[in-house]
Amino acid sequence: MFSNKKVFKRYFLQKLEMTYGKPFKDSTSSDHFQTLGHMIREYVSSNWINTNESYRKDKGKQVYYLSIEFLLGRLLYHNLINLGIEKVVSEGFSDLGINLHEVEEIECDAGLGNGGLGRLAACFLDSLATLNLPGHGFGIRYKHGLFEQRIVDGYQIELPEQWLKHGQVWEVRKEDLAVDIPFWGVIDMYEQDGKLQFRHLNAETVTAVPHDIPVIGYETKTVNTLRLWNAEPTSLLAKDVKDIMRYKRETESISEFLYPDDANDEGKILRLKQQYFLVSASLQSILKNYKQQYKDIKKFHQHISIHINDTHPVLAIPELMRILLDKEGLSWDEAWEITKNTISYTNHTTLSEALEKWPIYIFQPLLPRIYMIINEINERFCKNLWSKFPGDFQRIEQMAIIAHGMVKMAHLALVGSHSVNGVAEIHTEILKTREMNLFYQIFPEKFNNKTNGITHRRWLIKSNPKLTQLVTDSIGDKWIKHPTQLSKLLSYQTDTSFLQNLAAIKQENKVHLAKIIQEQNGIIVDPSSIFDVQVKRLHAYKRQLLNVLHIMHLYNLLKADPGLEITPRTFIFGAKASPGYYYAKKIIKLINTVAEKVNNDKNIQDKLKVVFLENYRVSLAEHIFPAADISEQISTASKEASGTGNMKFMMNGALTVGTLDGANIEMKELVGDNNIFIFGMNAEEVLDLYQSGGYRSTEYYHHDKRIQEVVNQLKNGFFDHESNEFDPIFDSLLIENDQYFVLKDFHSYAKIQEEVNTTYKDQQKWLQMCAVNIAKSGHFSSDRTIKEYADDIWKIKPLF
Ligand SMILES: *Cc1c(COP(=O)(O)O)cnc(C)c1O
Repeated sequence: MFSNKKVFKRYFLQKLEMTYGKPFKDSTSSDHFQTLGHMIREYVSSNWINTNESYRKDKGKQVYYLSIEFLLGRLLYHNLINLGIEKVVSEGFSDLGINLHEVEEIECDAGLGNGGLGRLAACFLDSLATLNLPGHGFGIRYKHGLFEQRIVDGYQIELPEQWLKHGQVWEVRKEDLAVDIPFWGVIDMYEQDGKLQFRHLNAETVTAVPHDIPVIGYETKTVNTLRLWNAEPTSLLAKDVKDIMRYKRETESISEFLYPDDANDEGKILRLKQQYFLVSASLQSILKNYKQQYKDIKKFHQHISIHINDTHPVLAIPELMRILLDKEGLSWDEAWEITKNTISYTNHTTLSEALEKWPIYIFQPLLPRIYMIINEINERFCKNLWSKFPGDFQRIEQMAIIAHGMVKMAHLALVGSHSVNGVAEIHTEILKTREMNLFYQIFPEKFNNKTNGITHRRWLIKSNPKLTQLVTDSIGDKWIKHPTQLSKLLSYQTDTSFLQNLAAIKQENKVHLAKIIQEQNGIIVDPSSIFDVQVKRLHAYKRQLLNVLHIMHLYNLLKADPGLEITPRTFIFGAKASPGYYYAKKIIKLINTVAEKVNNDKNIQDKLKVVFLENYRVSLAEHIFPAADISEQISTASKEASGTGNMKFMMNGALTVGTLDGANIEMKELVGDNNIFIFGMNAEEVLDLYQSGGYRSTEYYHHDKRIQEVVNQLKNGFFDHESNEFDPIFDSLLIENDQYFVLKDFHSYAKIQEEVNTTYKDQQKWLQMCAVNIAKSGHFSSDRTIKEYADDIWKIKPLF
């Protein structure tokens, strides 16, 4: 149906009229989207079936990637590209007077994630399918994804997100594959044939119904599966009406909302329910499949690998134990070996407030059998430690899985898996030498690094078609399948015509973003100014505050000397703050407050503009990265595990202003010191300074007049705000001793930004730097990351 334009048009019109019962002339963009979506699903269905059949026949190992978040964004255009039918469709549409980009806008983002962690999972699915690897995702089909952000009077307002409002073209509901999940109740122990048996009595069950989404690889027949579980009532019989209402409400609430919190958990029962719901549904489904195909449960780990994305799905460990012990009748030792060999774990953060732990009094009643198993794992582990370190109570207390009334999820993951990886070299080093050092001492073989990556198919080919064309015109198209071949661009860094084309493309992309800014914010920005961009979740450690304070300082300079020569800049922000994160919301208000004053001050002659783009999300991000000149990656060193936004910028030819943190370090090593703007303390200095306690933020306030001026302006209403509006920010800097070293790094940041200005004046040099960055960015393709996971951790092989 996509073989050529003519066939496509005929099929499309026929399908449209059949489905909607109206003539083409009366159809809407939404009809066009739905029709095309259904056509694509139909088109891939035989490959989808064949992929599953081939996996079954091949009997190779498969991986299941469990993640509480999948930040997919839109799928239509991405699928068209991967299927290689984008041209047929866009030209066919064009003949019919339909604009494909308008149709694309109909699709809601699948925003089932908060930020980096969920987007990583989405990029991984794309790479798995493209590399023909047998790997599938398991997640939750939240009715409402991450909240929609509005900015009203400078403040963030949250609205419930409604991605399912118009139905979901990509998913297939599979009621026949539903499974039941038990909560609450009691565990009955009894003896049978001399063996202790366990029975879950009086449980309240919830039914998990799979909704499968095809994951289409690039130019391949592989179509893998993302299975999203929906929570539904099991049975409404035998309950009185009031009970039914409560039960229905409580059940459906499990897959109602994504938790809008990417760092710390509110200690909510619902969150724990979500985690067990995902894990139990996924494992039951994996086991059922396995048993249909293989007889010997003892070979499970030879055929199946289960990966847990952070600790949210860590209950996969006790859940697999439960199934192997209670259902399959294996001994503890047999079950434990299989479990450990099946499970691998990625750590995403060293922020202590983000390390998950659950109070026993919540955990035990909700998941009684799972708690028993974790308890047993803990006792055996502690006994083991005791024999290794007799009498070392302190060590054992620090390493225990259950201690001080809490279940520690990261400890469970470390003990119950065979592989633990960090997401950038420095992050893995910090895990080994500091955060998880006690575990590293006893399981050094488990630790390994897998530096994050991004799919260049979405973040370059789809989002920046002009740059894609320039690259292909220059070095051919082999880089698309082998992104490290982008390095061939290195020989173009002195090619004037290449650099001019590069500049022209950046300019066009900036004009396009400027248009979006004008439409959304009503602000006119100059596309020839430097587009300096910080887009990511709002968090103290990411230091959007450092960026704003520096803008305030630049404004002060211009106020004092309106004739001051500075390269005009447009500072662009995008960030959602967790609804309960009061401080982060104040930073949003500060950015908007500064923007209001700066943008409307005629005296500074448009040398500075500040823009806060509301509702940062994947589909908006696709317009932002291609238009950026500067990528702000300015987290307090040691705090950002890897970052992936940094990679998207780099691939689109933006230059990084960054600290030596996360993957910035690896970027610097790739491009060399001269092609990146590094500033500030390094991780070791930060961690040592925490340890020594020698930092006094007030000294920086007293000794640096620039700092004093901007910090005072937080208090004195200078930016036309209520004078106490920003007290929490003022206090964080001076009363709470500036936990993220904003003031300490200010000088170094201001200095590197001056260097950015001077460098930008030398356009030849600047463009050369951009070219080097693009050329070296292939390393950060998630294809590279996924190959490493496949070879080192999962031991899976491509089917073709
Ligand atoms: C890539 C991405 C992120 C992660 O950005 P970081 O800068 O690495 O924190 C968050 N949100 C969206 C929508 C993204 O596309």
